[in-house]
Amino acid sequence: METIKINEIFYSIQGESTYSGYPTVFIRTSGCHLRCSYCDTKYAYNAGDMMSVDEILEKVQSYKPQYVCVTGGEPLLQKNIYLLMKKLCNLNYNVSLETSGDISCNLVDSRVKKIIDVKTPDSGEANKFSLDNLPKNLATLVKTEYKFVICSKSDFQWAEEFCLKHDLFRSSTVLYSPSFKKINEKWLAEKIISKNSNARLQLQLHKYIWNPHITGV
Ligand code: SF4
Repeated sequence: METIKINEIFYSIQGESTYSGYPTVFIRTSGCHLRCSYCDTKYAYNAGDMMSVDEILEKVQSYKPQYVCVTGGEPLLQKNIYLLMKKLCNLNYNVSLETSGDISCNLVDSRVKKIIDVKTPDSGEANKFSLDNLPKNLATLVKTEYKFVICSKSDFQWAEEFCLKHDLFRSSTVLYSPSFKKINEKWLAEKIISKNSNARLQLQLHKYIWNPHITGV
């Protein structure tokens, strides 16, 4: 039986990527080999239960979603994740994958939208990016987005140089996300404008919605 160690499965609003804002079922796998300075899912490093692929599909179907996001931890550490994503696509869900960028996505079903992190120096995990994940052809590009969590001015500069070196702005969607509560969103917005960057500003929508300072109507 194909099993995957799962930390949690839940239904919420997608806060990242060009699918931001859509109601989405999140499948969070357990385990990550990196230790990013800003990690907000440390609870997923070890905790989790083994579930069969069929049990996971049954749970997803119970929410009746259109969008399903496979996230972690690092989902690609578990070999059966490829089968799960394929089966989700066969069921006609809009499937996305959030991955840390240092494991090749070559085996991921081509129907999956890949949100690939490029770890900046201030993440503490720079230079882990697999060059295998750089754009290859138009078909893969449509389904690929590159995400940079910006923690400082020097991270911004590093991200710009990486995108220019690998021609990401012309070929792909590039997302710059301010490290939550570390970088001012307005500062990043102004930086993108003043430097004539072609990155798309991405706020982690879910964190603003569920931020304790924001009160309901
Ligand atoms: S890759 Fe993601 S889950 Fe892993 S340490 Fe970095 S932020 Fe946390």
